[in-house]
Amino acid sequence: MKILVTGGLGFIGSHTVVELLQNNFDVCIIDNLANSKMSTVDNITAITNKKPKVYCFDVCDSAKTKEVFSTERPDAVIHFAGLKAVGESCEKPLLYYHVNIDATLSVLNAMDSVPTCKSIIFASSATVYGVPNSLPLTETSPIQDATSPYGETKIINERILQDWAKVNPQKSAIILRYFNPIGAHPSGLLGEDPNGVPNNLMPYVTRVATKQAPYLKINGNDYDTLDGTAIRDYIHVVDLARGHVLALNKLKDFRGVYICNLGSGKGTSVLELINAYKKATGVDFKVEFGPKRAGDVPANFASIDKAKRELGFECKYTLEDACKHAYMYQLKHI
Ligand code: UDP
Repeated sequence: MKILVTGGLGFIGSHTVVELLQNNFDVCIIDNLANSKMSTVDNITAITNKKPKVYCFDVCDSAKTKEVFSTERPDAVIHFAGLKAVGESCEKPLLYYHVNIDATLSVLNAMDSVPTCKSIIFASSATVYGVPNSLPLTETSPIQDATSPYGETKIINERILQDWAKVNPQKSAIILRYFNPIGAHPSGLLGEDPNGVPNNLMPYVTRVATKQAPYLKINGNDYDTLDGTAIRDYIHVVDLARGHVLALNKLKDFRGVYICNLGSGKGTSVLELINAYKKATGVDFKVEFGPKRAGDVPANFASIDKAKRELGFECKYTLEDACKHAYMYQLKHI
């Protein structure tokens, strides 16, 4: 079975490509290197002994995307390509709407031109749940107003997929809602190394732990949580990647729209994550409390009952594993 992966050289994309290759799927990639590097292909090859074909261009280019689909004739698509910085999306909303929506339209148009390309897995996010009314979040929890244009693009893309699936009853749209992916490949060859100042907690902690930043600022310690810091559901990126392989295998004959959370099912506060990181790596670092970050929800974590029951999903890695792997990767990439 051949899988075309858009954004296959990015953080989640590259780990997913590795899992696909290790499970004997054929893989080809479209990636414009906007937030990734060509050298990642060599690292994928070093882990798997297989070299996926990479097409370097922006998947928003509909004509080129169609051309690749007609050459490669994939059986399914995993669509990761897009912009993902919440803060930047508030400063450049039009860019986010343009890139994140056009990319999906281009991929779906290309799929329409290849009748044998039966399913698309879309990289959605827990951000579609907005400020939760109750926890844990299940797939039937309501979709609420997004707190950023980035989040809004995830909601709009989910709607586009629903409408597309209605007129393509012979195909399937699998929407995976990711909670907070962290960690790195245990080989130390793949990981997350964002350009500039990291927005997300784990890459920032890792920069502080490797002395590339002086201290970690915790965004708010007066939330209504046990220790006052915000709660999220952190999932090791390799476990998340494995979820895609399970979805492809289990949903081969599924038609229509399938929605599933992928997280660890556990809530972890910022302070708990910091303590786990210090314990796992043996590195101490300075922490300061700052004000809440605009747009942050106090707490969210997933119910992963559906993923467990229907996909056979389970997490192999602990929070400490994820911390250790992220640290090991960063040490190699300073
Ligand atoms: N956070 C923090 N310091 C940082 C970066 C993030 O305290 O330097 C907090 C952030 O405000 C949130 C949590 O860590 O409460 C997770 O943030 P992240 O950006 O990683 O994920 P998201 O908010 O998208 O769930």
